[in-house]
Parts: sequence; structure tokens; C-alpha cells
Amino acid sequence: MSSSVPPPPESVIPPEAAAPVSPVSVTVGAVEHSVDFVRPRLRARAARRAALYAGVQINGAPHLGTNVMQTAAFLLARAARDRLGVRADLRFGALDNAPYDTRVCPRTGTAYTRSYHHALGQAGIADLVKRFYGGLFDALTALTGVPYTVETYTRQQESPAFREEFLASLGRWEELRWTLAPSSGRVPVGFPCPACGWLQKSGEHTELLDADARRARFAAVCLDHGRYEIDVRPDGGAWLGLTTLHRNLVKERLADRDEALPVIVKGADWAAGCRLLDEAFLCFPGARPPARVFTPVVLSASGAKLSKSLMREGRAELSPDTPPWMLDATRWPGTTERYAVTLHRLVSLMLSDPRHFERGYTTPEVARLLRESDTI
Ligand SMILES: [Zn+2]
Repeated sequence: MSSSVPPPPESVIPPEAAAPVSPVSVTVGAVEHSVDFVRPRLRARAARRAALYAGVQINGAPHLGTNVMQTAAFLLARAARDRLGVRADLRFGALDNAPYDTRVCPRTGTAYTRSYHHALGQAGIADLVKRFYGGLFDALTALTGVPYTVETYTRQQESPAFREEFLASLGRWEELRWTLAPSSGRVPVGFPCPACGWLQKSGEHTELLDADARRARFAAVCLDHGRYEIDVRPDGGAWLGLTTLHRNLVKERLADRDEALPVIVKGADWAAGCRLLDEAFLCFPGARPPARVFTPVVLSASGAKLSKSLMREGRAELSPDTPPWMLDATRWPGTTERYAVTLHRLVSLMLSDPRHFERGYTTPEVARLLRESDTI
């Protein structure tokens, strides 16, 4: 999926009156615009292009927090272009590896899962991405002039370079596994059964039989089809089921091979996890972690970030006047274009000073900002 690049309109610049009230941040005097976090790495690499990477959740309709992060990625890419003078594009990764359904073995209690990719297939995933994000991303491209592409995790992990990086991670496993899982050193890998596509969720019976730089052979167990052995090679073999941090390490190492400087854009709730990723990078001689920019999180009344699973369980502690569209973007009452303009205005306010960007926003505060900027 790709997009054309029309010029941005002037009519979406937020008025001063609606600015948030934020405490002085620790970067005051050092950072004038949040995209400046990227500048040291750009200079060190003498890069003339930047690629901003962000995620697309496909396990249900997005909430406001997800859309704020994505809108921030568009606006940061535009700021990289205008302020840092580099070509910048956005690369969204669609997480079709999210679990679609789960089964538990009645005998052993072992959980097995099937991913969205294995349950819905390539066309089903493309439909979901288009339904939840296609119109919004096209509208944000029209507003910012920033082009984007979307690639599924399944496509990414098929690439020889991704698989080489996975094999390279196995080569440093003794050091890496304690970085990626400091409490236990246990980082499960999973490979779906070739007959049915289900895999053991925690990889209890997945075993590395042997590995070198060009090939790894694993044994695993399926609930229905018993034990199987499977190869991972740069040119093919098993679909790779990796834990969150391991998967991000491999993706970021892959992104670092690109001529464009990789910039990883994530919600601020990722800061602790990225600390571990940065440590993992240092396990590779001469490697440097990618540039990172963290975006504001949207919070419920309790201070917990909006979370699909907490909402599903009824434990999200939302204030009663939270508009339904903040929890489920498909309930936005107007057009997609108007939603994009609203997000653009909101995130422009957040980006207007680093102190407004280096903090979180509750849903009532977002509602107040939008009311005062007369957007809805
Ligand atoms: Zn099977």
C-alpha cells in the first residue's frame, strides 16, 4: 500500500489559546522540537534520508492512543523534512502475528495460539488494515505531504535479511537472552505446525537442535499433529514466532541495514522495553541502537494508558464522559477526513513544545483541548 504526496493545507495550524499546561521537562534548553532527538544520529551517519517506523495493531479497532502515536509519526516525519532537511517517509508494520485464538491442551494445560495471519490469510489482513487505517493514513498524507507504506510482519519475516538477523541473534544467544528477559533468561521462540498453523504459545517443547549462520533446526510439538522438525534459512523455511522484544530487536537490526536512517516511533509506555532493546544492540560489536522518539500516551482516569484488553475486561477505569470514539475509532461520528484533521490538530498542540510532548494526556484533558481549539 502506498500513497501520493499532495502539499499540506495551511488551515490546520492550532490556535495558541488551546495550548496544554505542562511542567518544564528535563530537556528544556537542550531540545527545541521533539524531532531534534534524531539530529545527532543523522549527523553521525551523514544520512540524507530518514525512515520512521511505527506499528499498526490489527487485533480490533484502534483507540485514540494508537492513532495519536501514528499521527505523531506523520508529523515527526514532516518535521524531519522541514526542520532537518532530509527526505522522510513512514513505514508502518502491521502486526499480523497477534494471537487470533487460543486453545488449551486438556491433558497438559499447555496453551496453543493461532496468529491473525494463520487464521485470516493475506487478503483478510489487507482488509483489516484498510478498514482500520487506510482512509486515516491517506488523509494524514494529504495533510502532511508525508508518504507511507504498510508491510505485514509476515512479509517482513519472509525476507532473507530478517532471517539472517534472527540467525545472528541465535549466535549471541547466551548474552542476548538475559538482556531480552532479565528475570529468567527465557525467550521462547515458536514455529507454527506446518499442517495446521497453530503454535505452542510459550514454546515449552520447542527445542533448538542445531544452528549456524545459515541455518537453524528446531523441534516443536502440535496439539493435533505431534512432534515436528523445522528449518529456518535465509531463503525460507519456518514462519518465525518471536516474543515482543526479540521481534523488535530483529526488526530494528534489519532497519539499520537501510540507507535511510531508521527512527523508531513508539508510545512512551515503550520506554522501559526500549531500554532493554538498546542493551541488546550493545551485544553486537560496533552496533548502535536506532534513533528513538517516544510519543505521548493517552490515559484513563486512573493514569493507566488506554488498553484494548483492559477495556474488554471492563477494568479500564474510564471517566463516564469519555466519548466512545476515543475508545473505538470506528465510532467517530464524522468523516475520516475530519477525524484526521482533529488528530492533526491535537498532536500539533502536543508537538508545539517538547514539554507538551514529553507527558501523557487523560481522555478528559484531550476532550478539553479539542473543545477549546474548536475542533469538534
Ligand atoms: Zn498441527
